[in-house]
Amino acid sequence: MGDHLMIRLLDKSIADKIAAGEVIDRPVSIVKELVENAVDAGATSITVQIRDGGRTYIRVTDNGCGIPAEEAETAFRRHATSKITDEKDLDCIETLGFRGEALASICAVSRVELITKTADSKSGRKVVVESSQVLENTATGCPDGTTVTVRDLFFNVPARYKFLASDASEARKVIDFVSRIALSYPDIRFSMINGSSTVFTTAGKGNILAGIINIYGKDIGEGLIPVEQSAGGFTLKAHVSPPDKTLPSRSRQIFCVNGRIIASSVLERALDRAYAERMFKGRFPIAFLFLAMPAEKLDVNIHPAKRQIRFDDNSEVEDFVTEAIRSALMGQQAVPDVSKDVSKAEIPPAQPQIQELNVRDDGFKYESIATETPQQQVDIKSFLTTLRQEKNETAAEQEKPDPVPAAVNQPFDFDELTVIGAVFNTYILAQDDSCFYMIDQHAAHERVFYEKLMKQYHASEKYSQQMLMPLSFSVSSDVSTTEDMWISQVRAMGYDIEFFGNQTYLVREIPAFMQINEAEDFLNDLFSAFSDRPDLSDQRVLDKIITRSCKSAVKGGDVLDSREITALIDQLKACDNPFSCPHGRPTFVKMTRYELERMFKRA
Ligand code: ADP
Ligand code: MG
Repeated sequence: MGDHLMIRLLDKSIADKIAAGEVIDRPVSIVKELVENAVDAGATSITVQIRDGGRTYIRVTDNGCGIPAEEAETAFRRHATSKITDEKDLDCIETLGFRGEALASICAVSRVELITKTADSKSGRKVVVESSQVLENTATGCPDGTTVTVRDLFFNVPARYKFLASDASEARKVIDFVSRIALSYPDIRFSMINGSSTVFTTAGKGNILAGIINIYGKDIGEGLIPVEQSAGGFTLKAHVSPPDKTLPSRSRQIFCVNGRIIASSVLERALDRAYAERMFKGRFPIAFLFLAMPAEKLDVNIHPAKRQIRFDDNSEVEDFVTEAIRSALMGQQAVPDVSKDVSKAEIPPAQPQIQELNVRDDGFKYESIATETPQQQVDIKSFLTTLRQEKNETAAEQEKPDPVPAAVNQPFDFDELTVIGAVFNTYILAQDDSCFYMIDQHAAHERVFYEKLMKQYHASEKYSQQMLMPLSFSVSSDVSTTEDMWISQVRAMGYDIEFFGNQTYLVREIPAFMQINEAEDFLNDLFSAFSDRPDLSDQRVLDKIITRSCKSAVKGGDVLDSREITALIDQLKACDNPFSCPHGRPTFVKMTRYELERMFKRA
């Protein structure tokens, strides 16, 4: 055992450095705190500038309310805040800051210069602080608002300095954060300058989509589906990708709750649920979610850097967001656009069905369309409407309007479809007022079959049809010995099935909606999957097997007459999710009239 060491109070400068570690671990955490202060100060314009990844230089300038001269120095004290006064304020925080720790932490580990002026004072104030020591506090001439410059981060904490990543990587983190917060506050004009180059400047005119395109580019921003839903004190405004446009990571999922950029597994789950069955595993939708909710229903004070929040009721939030997005995905814009090269974006090369699909899709790939500008790709009607609006706006305010027309996501209406015919006995052609559609008969049928099966499975009353002659299935011993793992499930689907001895099962009734050959193929496929002894107690495993069996039960390439086509479309319409087969492939794709006209050089 070592000698007992004397317990001592740490001197202030060490204590400050330790405390700073919780809030400030790299340049982006400084930028975050400074920008949040600027937002809290009511700024309408915020400029962030960094050099060397923020290591040597960070400057945040705002045109907000400023700090009164006599308080400028106090702002650097720990737990100095103008934002809350007593404990009950903590339950209902409306500002981004409230801990009164940021400036104190920042000045403990760097050299800070604060220049600030309120609108009603004639001169401003300059305060210079280094390692928590005030070096200067003088009057100065400056515009209204606040500029904080932070130099030489961690110059006095070498151990932390060592942990900084490369300048490029630190800069990327800063730019990523400023991008996100700029989107969350579309009414504030943000400029992001890295070194000597401007990374982006937002218009600050309140258009979120314009901001997304401005910051993340057309590839990400174009064709997103707008979501707007309010209920019970919650409002979700979002822009999400159609299911055919996904990325291999969550890097373009941005969550903002009451103006706070947060990480949230609750919101990730809500998204995943809204897209369930509509995309492949390992792919993620693009999603910019802005949720406003009653402040008393969440706790923002659970993380020192405020990167996480706690909802009082997770499932209330999750359900609201899931439903809002799910219903937006049922709209017209959710139908994949033929010119967006559906298969390449979505289908992983290992899937057995792809060959067939790629051939189909490549057949409809028109190069000339792929090179269009976004404005040209917009549906002609909304384009014209925007032109009209633009004209009025220009007249009104002489400023350049946003280049992005407001997207309208009308509900998709199956009743508007007129069937024109079919090609290759596989693809049904249809049209409505503005679009031309190609429906994959096989994928559509698979979707219909799957949903009927699921409905039957969960319903208390089963609809079955009796066989004149029972069907018999001979199975491997693996199947019969694991009978209790699957037989009740198969019965729940509407099969009347019984062991007959000698590795044989007899089926006297099949689900009413199935053709006899479908019912047979379905069970055969199920049994062959069961003979691999999967873990059937896992619902997801069983689901996978069932979707696979649906596919093998439904045969493509049948010639459908017009009555059968109409019936199929009616059944598709009745589906909860008509836009993709259970494996995530699209059931139909569209091409706008405008795209057609472009193709023939008429527009
Ligand atoms: P908090 O934001 O949690 O209150 P900070 O240490 O970030 O704590 O800031 C301390 C105080 O300094 C704030 O409460 C605010 O009154 C003032 N302040 C900081 N930055 C600004 C700014 N950019 N504009 C106006 N006031 C500011
Ligand atoms: Mg703050």
